[in-house]
Amino acid sequence: MTFFEELNNDNTSGVALKNIQLKKSIISFLCRNGSYTIADVCKEVNLSIPKVTNLISELINDGLVEDLGKVESTGGRKPNLYGMVGNSVFFLGVDIKQGHINIGLTDLQKNLIEIKENIPYELANSQEALTDLIGNIKNFIKHLSIKKEKILGLGVNLSGRINYATGYSFSFFNFNEEPLAKALEKELHIKTFLENDSRAMAYGEFNAGLVKEEKNVLFINLDYGIGMGIMINSQLYYGKSGFAGEFGHIPLFNNNIICQCGKMGCLETEGSGWALTRNFRERIVAGTSSILLEKANGLSVDQINMDHIIDAANGDDVLAIDLIAEIGDRIGRGLALLINIFNPELVIVGGSLAKTGEYIILPIKSAINKYSLSLVNNDTKIKLSSLGEKSGVIGACLLARNRLLNLD
Ligand SMILES: [Zn+2]
Repeated sequence: MTFFEELNNDNTSGVALKNIQLKKSIISFLCRNGSYTIADVCKEVNLSIPKVTNLISELINDGLVEDLGKVESTGGRKPNLYGMVGNSVFFLGVDIKQGHINIGLTDLQKNLIEIKENIPYELANSQEALTDLIGNIKNFIKHLSIKKEKILGLGVNLSGRINYATGYSFSFFNFNEEPLAKALEKELHIKTFLENDSRAMAYGEFNAGLVKEEKNVLFINLDYGIGMGIMINSQLYYGKSGFAGEFGHIPLFNNNIICQCGKMGCLETEGSGWALTRNFRERIVAGTSSILLEKANGLSVDQINMDHIIDAANGDDVLAIDLIAEIGDRIGRGLALLINIFNPELVIVGGSLAKTGEYIILPIKSAINKYSLSLVNNDTKIKLSSLGEKSGVIGACLLARNRLLNLD
């Protein structure tokens, strides 16, 4: 069996399983360090020269590792160097949104090789939606220039509560007993990892975006709902069951508005894409004008959605800008609370609403200054996401890569 086959075989045990783990350690070492001699690898994985020579020759047969020739050195026996084969393996990432999906492919070196964005898709908790999802993934794979066998892992992001260890989603595709990740593996024959969408976006941003030296970072995903990814000491923070980061559901308001979660007064009821859409429609009904209705696009009040309002704001619509500022102020109040608790070095504002740029970030910053302790918030930079919606796909690919190969 090849390394790929062994990796996808859940029944592997004993020596074979031990060998997979050792090969993963070798791959992860070569990924981090470029090229090394057998002696270097022995030191790293704490094994004998014959054992490492054996494992490496198997990895060479699988097309994963290559012999790079002799080391240039003065005198003595010159050992050979080994490194990963470029383009040997790839990772697939699928970011599922409410009305579309994004699918991408990265290589071992974290480069985004291909991405297809805004594939029309209706997210629902139904077999049809699951079948449609699988069809879209298969279609993406079919059109790739690389062989499917080279795809080592698949990362999938979904909103809502996820058990990342079992790959079970509590919010979508939970009509079968089998976890979603297992159902996808059966159909696609690729090792699959499920993750909460905001946490995956945060991971993309932490690994391939704005985060350089920072170790304590909060990522806020502003969409219809509000999600969050937390990085503490350079590690994603999950909490006991992986539910940490339910920022949208902190009870910040004394209102009677029922939240998506069923409770009242959550931040999401007044400071989210849902709230923005509701407020915008109410103001239109009350007679306020907006370029959205002046356009000859035949949009009725009920059809106005968050994306329309974001476009309107970016087209200098006064109503859209005013309401986004209100939302920003409320999110900033929530963030002030988080900053007082976490004392982060960096807060990254991402998600759909981040597309409004200064219109959302300025009120957020001013609310933070107003409501958090200045001694604490002096430490914190507030920045807009640099990857935008791509952070989801990149995060999904990197989570699959790093979970599979035990990389950080
Ligand atoms: Zn709530």
